[in-house]
Amino acid sequence: MSETVLPNHLIHFSETSLLKLPTSLYKSCKAYLSYDDIKKIQKAYSFAFYAHSGQKRKDGSDYITHPVAVTEILLDLKMDPDSVCSALMHDVLEDCNVQKNNLAKIFGDDVAHIVDGVSKLGKIETKNISDNDANNLQKMALAMANDVRVIFVKLCDRLHNMRTIEHVPRNKQILKAKETLELYGPLALRVGMQDIRAELEDLSFRCIHPMRAKMLENAVKTSSGGRKRIVTKIRKELKTRLKSNNIQDVAVKGREKNLYSIYSKIKTKHKPFSEILDVYGFRILVDSVDDCYRALGIIHNYFSPIENKFKDYIAIPKTNGYQALHTSLLALEAFPIEVQIQTRSMWATANMGIAAHWGYKTDDQSKGTELRANKWLSGLVDLQKKSSNPSEFADSLKKDLDSEEVYLFSPKGHIYALKAGATPIDFAYEVHTGLGNSIIGCKVNRREAPLNVELESGQTVEIITSSSSVDADPAWLNFVVTSKARSGIRARLRNQKTSSARKAGKFMLESELQRSGKSLEDYRGSTLKRVLDSIGVTSLNKLLIELGSGKRTGNIVAERFYSGLKIRKDSDNKKIKPVFISDNHIEGVSVVFAKCCHPIYQDPAIAHSDTERGIVIHHNKCKQVAPFISKDPRYIPAKWTTNTKNHVYTAKINIVTVDEIGVLAEIVSVFTKAAINIEQVHTKNIDSTFSAFEMEVDVESREELQYIMQKIRSKKITSSCTRLINEK
Ligand code: MN
Repeated sequence: MSETVLPNHLIHFSETSLLKLPTSLYKSCKAYLSYDDIKKIQKAYSFAFYAHSGQKRKDGSDYITHPVAVTEILLDLKMDPDSVCSALMHDVLEDCNVQKNNLAKIFGDDVAHIVDGVSKLGKIETKNISDNDANNLQKMALAMANDVRVIFVKLCDRLHNMRTIEHVPRNKQILKAKETLELYGPLALRVGMQDIRAELEDLSFRCIHPMRAKMLENAVKTSSGGRKRIVTKIRKELKTRLKSNNIQDVAVKGREKNLYSIYSKIKTKHKPFSEILDVYGFRILVDSVDDCYRALGIIHNYFSPIENKFKDYIAIPKTNGYQALHTSLLALEAFPIEVQIQTRSMWATANMGIAAHWGYKTDDQSKGTELRANKWLSGLVDLQKKSSNPSEFADSLKKDLDSEEVYLFSPKGHIYALKAGATPIDFAYEVHTGLGNSIIGCKVNRREAPLNVELESGQTVEIITSSSSVDADPAWLNFVVTSKARSGIRARLRNQKTSSARKAGKFMLESELQRSGKSLEDYRGSTLKRVLDSIGVTSLNKLLIELGSGKRTGNIVAERFYSGLKIRKDSDNKKIKPVFISDNHIEGVSVVFAKCCHPIYQDPAIAHSDTERGIVIHHNKCKQVAPFISKDPRYIPAKWTTNTKNHVYTAKINIVTVDEIGVLAEIVSVFTKAAINIEQVHTKNIDSTFSAFEMEVDVESREELQYIMQKIRSKKITSSCTRLINEK
């Protein structure tokens, strides 16, 4: 990448003019980061400060307050220094004329990559995402991010934007809130950040349905009066039972559900509000996995479990890494309760995501702020290696991050998942076989792109099609990666053969019909149907293909057509119009040159519609065709248009020379000098004085052939030189 100079407004940014971190940031940093880390963060702060100088937020405050607030959320999660730096600078690529390589140079590749990833995620358009696409949208985001820290920073960014959403126009509020519910909430769940997810959802819910949120909130409040007493009573009961059974250090908490989850339960499970709220939730936190199972046994002893409600997410964690034992019981004979039992570290993981894996352990070990931050999962690979018991969570998230799939938008906003390496042709076939079959070009992110370009997650792919049929290129098979595209192209290539057979068949039938001055045009509707019935085919198309591929004989078919119009076939004196041979084609059908008479360009020629071989061009004196000219309509005079493509034709000649040593060499040298290729030579000794050579030579035209024959004849050794055209 070329080196880019920092934009003007960043000239203040240099080592010597580092700004002091805002106090709150500095305090949070000092809690767990080293001096060097904080220095780097200070540098990032200064950079962001100058980059955003003069910019304001919608509420009128300086823009820098936004990245600072985002960074504070990240610091609470005890994120690594590179994430923190990235959070401070997460908007500089978008709004400040800064290039990715500026950041890479000053802050390193990781920071540049995270900031760039956050900017790209911000550009995903989620306007018309259907439920079907939502899961793919999350996967697309993960594939685009390919470093989980990009997701962390983006989630914190979105969280702060949602907290301050009241300052943006109403229609934009709703758009953002919907996007948050569709993409960022589930994404937070996917990376295991329960708390952030709950807050994002509640903020979005309040934004989209302010009235409903208010009502629900009030209902929760009023119902909690009597509730409180019951909850306290059950909590005490649980705690006493566990302690008296020797479970040390146990904490029992009443659980509050977040508003949005209550709302979606009412909506999706069609349960009344009271029923959802009347289930009391408790969380029991213990120190070890062993204690989890023992605690479960103890409470099952005291309260009656509700059947089929037990779930062991410790043995089999949820795909987002969540671990706990879930059970439902009837407490104090009357109240249904839901209990979740987990270790404190499981709880931290569920609430803070992967950050907890590192952050939580630090508290246990030493209080030093040594460079543990650097060991923080620099990728999930590390996490997996370190972990003695690699969780399904890390596994599935890692898979999503370095995805073997690419996720692409159609122009209408649908998302398609394709194998990595997919090209626009793969995309077209994935969308619809018909689209693949008519592709002639494509646009990627609104720009024209070649058909073999490798697509990347997040791109919008528009397929340009042709209304007339286009031929598939066999070369496409070299770069497509999906089986849909491959089989689509193969089928098309097979069809292309059929379509040229069809053209040949049409030509044959037309030339037959010409005999009576008729053409296929004259056969329509019921007449055509009657003829086809009498031949025994279902469609004209089929008939033409069968004719062209030699499965039927032209004149027999024509006979049926004549009787269809009740025409007698003896109109011999009808004038037959000649056809034109243009670049080895007649009316778009490629022709074959007869091996009996070897016609060449400029020869008087006859086109024979041969049921076996298609259209065959003969010399008009060839004994295979001469007797039929102007008697049989399948033999039509053919004229050559200019030989624009300089094809070579094979002509056959006979040379008689005196029988001497070296005559053949002498003749060959005449051809070599004229740069004419000899295909074959047959030598015959006519008698002791003469030899004959039958040769096949490549020439461009009759003119060229006559010239070379003249040369041969002028040789002393030559007795005669004649052309062989299979005459009688
Ligand atoms: Mn932002």
